[in-house]
Amino acid sequence: MMPASRAMRLALAAFGGVLAMGTAVPSGAQDQAAAPAAPQPAAQPAPAAKPRLILAISIDQFSADLFAQYRQHFTGGFARLLSGAVYPQGFQSHAATETCPGHSTLLTGVHPARTGIIANTWYDAKVGRVVYCAEDERDPKSSAGQPVVSNRHLKAPTLGDLMKRANPAALNVAVSAKDRAAVMMSGHDADAAYWWLGKGFTTYAGRPVSAAATAQNVVTDKLIDAGAPALPAPAWCQKVDRAVPVGGFSIGTYRFPQVAGDYKTFNRTPRVDAATGELAVRLVDELGLGKDEVPDVLSVSFSATDYVGHAYGTEGVEMCIQMAQLDATLGTLFAALDARGIDYVAVLSADHGGIDAPERLVMDGFPTAQRLDAALTDKALSQAVSQDTGVTVKTGQLLYGAGASGDVWLAPGLTPKQQKKVIDALVVRLARHPQIAGVYRATDLAKLPVPKGDPQDWTLEQRTRASFDPAVSGQVLMMTKRGVVPGEPRQGYTTTHGSPWDYDRRVPMLLWRKGVPGFEQPDPVETVDIAPTLAAMIGLNEPLGTWDGRCLDIDGSQADTCRR
Ligand SMILES: [Zn+2]
Repeated sequence: MMPASRAMRLALAAFGGVLAMGTAVPSGAQDQAAAPAAPQPAAQPAPAAKPRLILAISIDQFSADLFAQYRQHFTGGFARLLSGAVYPQGFQSHAATETCPGHSTLLTGVHPARTGIIANTWYDAKVGRVVYCAEDERDPKSSAGQPVVSNRHLKAPTLGDLMKRANPAALNVAVSAKDRAAVMMSGHDADAAYWWLGKGFTTYAGRPVSAAATAQNVVTDKLIDAGAPALPAPAWCQKVDRAVPVGGFSIGTYRFPQVAGDYKTFNRTPRVDAATGELAVRLVDELGLGKDEVPDVLSVSFSATDYVGHAYGTEGVEMCIQMAQLDATLGTLFAALDARGIDYVAVLSADHGGIDAPERLVMDGFPTAQRLDAALTDKALSQAVSQDTGVTVKTGQLLYGAGASGDVWLAPGLTPKQQKKVIDALVVRLARHPQIAGVYRATDLAKLPVPKGDPQDWTLEQRTRASFDPAVSGQVLMMTKRGVVPGEPRQGYTTTHGSPWDYDRRVPMLLWRKGVPGFEQPDPVETVDIAPTLAAMIGLNEPLGTWDGRCLDIDGSQADTCRR
């Protein structure tokens, strides 16, 4: 722990754009450097060599609340990150807090309004169906059930894209259990991108699965085919180890025994994270990441926290075990990079947060937690608005969407007059529903600027604006009240995220590099700050306006770049 005053100075330097102290600067020089408007030349810290590898980690559904709850228990990889720069309040500032939009902000440095990834899925009237964020729907082989994976919807370049543009020798690699995570973090110009698909890791159609990925698949197959015993629950999990009825079944006590040959549920267990980390290390070796002076980027998105959260909620023994296992998996990953002597900077954040199953929240004293009223699903709204307006369509479904992202799309084929009638009726109907906190028309959102400033202060409308792209967003956007969870509980799915509330928006942001002194900054930062911060660290100069976020001066060596 550093003295409070030093932490404060570092924080001031990071946020005021004042030159911060580097690791090699003696304390006297630090004071001088931190003094405002000093006429004499400020002591320049020796510029640290560029890290050779950026390790960008996303923990799917890792809320700031989970981080706060479990950080005291971490002894593995998280413990190392806790010794670095700790921003416990990072914001996925936008409203539609889903996986695809969240991952799209992490390395582009811009909000979904600019990445174009406004939700996990959207209704496309031209295609006549719901389209997946990481799909090439123009490919005749692509369908809603089996999308052909593509990066075409991502409108902004990722850090890896920009690094390769600046120097083609830079390598850009991503791995995850989820295709959309690997695609959104690597972007348009990936040297390798892998995700888990039913049985083994796979990649873009037409690309070979490399020897490293094939080797990992053999190892993972062997594990699944053999089965594995239940995972241990650390003593600190005792408090949350209790059965809670949800729908017609219980959650809260499951321990992830691997049934031999059960590929179906493997990705809902901590073991899929271990496999993801192992593949990441194999790719480091296969591609020679972090070996030469040209920095590379390795994105690793660990998905199991999200699958565990959806299946079992966030406040049971399942999530506690997941946190312990993930801590160990991160430790293994860092140890592997250490063993290879790679100079890397690790950054960890999340695509969105999450909330527990409403049934357990109510038991724990949060009586306002509730399931979304079935009257707010798109089919029910279609019927109701048809009755209100007399407007009908051949398919019977007038409206699409109304899911976790809040977008509602009109069916194609309506006249402008009918469209207006339907939108007006829908807005009136939503506005008077007790579970709705805000209703916005696309035409109004389009007139607003994308918000800036402290994301804690953004209005609901501003959060919605940051998730809005007129080319893909719905005609109406509805935001539910705090604690309203869409969907009825079923085995494997008891809760979700996607709301504009801070349990879904707030995620930790942790940065660590060997030799860089740690500090904790409790004030809010944004996930769009990650890319400009890393860009400055590797000397990647991009024009003003490239990022929605700002550069955080974590080691005092990049104040000038941060000031750009
Ligand atoms: Zn997610």
